[in-house]
Parts: sequence; C-alpha cells; structure tokens
Amino acid sequence: MAATTYAIAIGSNRYGRHGPPARTVAAAIAVLPGVIAVAPTIASAPLGPSTRRFANTVVLLRVTDDPPMLLRRLKAIERRFGRRATRTWGARILDLDIVLWSAGQWRSRTLTIPHRSFRDRAFVLGPLAAIAGDWRDPSTGLRVRHLAHQVDRPRPRP
Ligand code: ADP
Ligand code: MG
Repeated sequence: MAATTYAIAIGSNRYGRHGPPARTVAAAIAVLPGVIAVAPTIASAPLGPSTRRFANTVVLLRVTDDPPMLLRRLKAIERRFGRRATRTWGARILDLDIVLWSAGQWRSRTLTIPHRSFRDRAFVLGPLAAIAGDWRDPSTGLRVRHLAHQVDRPRPRP
C-alpha cells in the first residue's frame, strides 16, 4: 500500500516499566513507526471511575500499513509496555488509538476510523489541533480546529 497518514492518540495513567505516564508516552513515541509530527503532551483529568490522571498526546504517522495492520502493530506495542486486558475505564499503562486516517473512513467489527469518541474528547482534540488543525473529519466535514473549539465550550444544560 502507498504511504498514508494516521493521527494516533496516546494515553497513559499508570506507572509502567518506563516510569510515570509522561515518560511512558515519550517512550511510546520513540518506538512508533513513521512519526512525522508530535503534539505537546498534556495532563488530563481521570475518565470515568478511575482516579488517576492521564498523560495524553497525539502524533502523526506516515506509514504503508493498512488500518488493520497498523492496529495490530499498536496493540503489540501496548502489550510490550505491559498493558493487560483491563476494564475499559481502568488504569492502563498505554493506550494507542487510531483517530483519523488520510484515506478517509474504515469500518469493521474491530476497527472504526475516525475513532468513535474523539469528537467529545478535549484531551485528543487539543493536542490534535496543535499539529493538524486543518484536517477535516470525514464524518462531519468539520476541521479539527473547529471540533477542538466546540469541545471546549460549556455544554447547554439538558
Ligand atoms: P479504549 O476504547 O478505551 O481505547 P481499548 O484500547 O481496550 O479501549 O480498545 C478496545 C478495542 O477497540 C480495540 O481492541 C480495537 O479493536 C477497538 N477499536 C475500534 N476502533 C478503534 C480505533 N479507531 N483505534 C483503536 N482501537 C479501536
Ligand atoms: Mg484503545
């Protein structure tokens, strides 16, 4: 396959063999293939019932992998960093999610691109906007910059 670009969200909220979350994120970036851009790493509040703070960032990869191949590689890296199958919202050493793909959309039983929840996640949209603000979400047609601005605004009360 010809090279395409992927935006990958990286998150960590517990100690692994590389140390605290921010160190884990840096170590993950060092082993990811085809890195062409790296956003600043941010600290974000715990998600769901977990009480641990996260380190989060987004990187752009330029690789010849198709989406299933890249997902396999990302999962192998998560395992190498010591991640075990845990509750979705629980503590995790490393989470690597495919957020956007330059070739557009992908939908299979195990993989959906764009990522289902990235439009609601400030900790993804903030870093993503820093390196790919002009990228258009193929599902909504909106630019990342616009989505990032939207997620920061207080929601209307139900
Ligand atoms: P989380 O939703 O918190 O990231 P996991 O990392 O455990 O949870 O992912 C659960 C499953 O989600 C993965 O095994 C993968 O098959 C699936 N998945 C679906 N879409 C994506 C995507 N865009 N990026 C990464 N994983 C995805
Ligand atoms: Mg994941």
